[in-house]
Amino acid sequence: MQIYIDGAFHDRQNAKISVFDHGLLYGDGVFEGIRVYEGCVFRLREHLERLYESARAIALEIPIPPEAMIDVVVETARRNGRRNAYIRLVVTRGEGDLGLDPHNCKRATVICIVDDVKLYPEELYRQGLKVITASTRQVGPGTFDARIKSLNYLKSVLAKIEARRAGALEAVMLNEEGFVAECTADNIFIVKRGALLTPPLWDGALAGITRGTILELAARMGIPAREERLARFDLFNADECFLTGTGAEIIPVVDIDDRRIGEGVPGPVTMRVLEAFREMITRDGVRVPF
Ligand code: PMP
Repeated sequence: MQIYIDGAFHDRQNAKISVFDHGLLYGDGVFEGIRVYEGCVFRLREHLERLYESARAIALEIPIPPEAMIDVVVETARRNGRRNAYIRLVVTRGEGDLGLDPHNCKRATVICIVDDVKLYPEELYRQGLKVITASTRQVGPGTFDARIKSLNYLKSVLAKIEARRAGALEAVMLNEEGFVAECTADNIFIVKRGALLTPPLWDGALAGITRGTILELAARMGIPAREERLARFDLFNADECFLTGTGAEIIPVVDIDDRRIGEGVPGPVTMRVLEAFREMITRDGVRVPF
């Protein structure tokens, strides 16, 4: 495994950063999770746009421009010889001192790791997933904007622990008002009377690249799709439900808080969307020249 850190490649044992990096000390940084499908880095430009916007929102200057970042990602994928992989691109505030003030961090650290994909077990894509609602809430834009894909995932970690304790693999997170925001690392959609509905970003959802792709695909397929404020009531009364994310892709949900969703099996609209998504993923992105 060859890991990129600030312009150089290291093997796994030697890929190290300072213990004074504010990414470690304060979760001060931003990141992206990206997929490579058959040598094509899926929606790389969209991922980089989100990365640079997240960085801008936290006043973090990424030391290289987006075009050079494309080269970093593509070259790391190429060196690792992976035609199918998961890429983790991380930009931390960089090395400073123990004080919180980022002013003392002179240069952001850029890290790119290419590894295997950790999907849900294959049978769950056929049977559907059981999820719970976490008591840990998503914070609102008045506290921290969920559009920032930051290195601080503690609330997602806490919600994930709740899910595991309840015998589920994923948790729905509500915002402070009690409306559905997203899951710990996925966006959420429901199908109601043939239409796809997903919470608006201002209710605390990350602008998921997969979420955006699904909204685009739905428009092309003639499936009505829109952002709509959702409560748990809407989840329990959904005809179908599915989650979207770079790692998970599209995974059907058949049980929420021990309520059966729809028929209790992955629904027809979910399966149509999943098929269309799988069909396009190897064509929509930046090619790796192996
Ligand atoms: N929400 C959160 C909190 C996430 O971390 C992610 C990324 N795993 C998503 C949603 C899905 O976004 P994407 O489709 O861009 O992976």
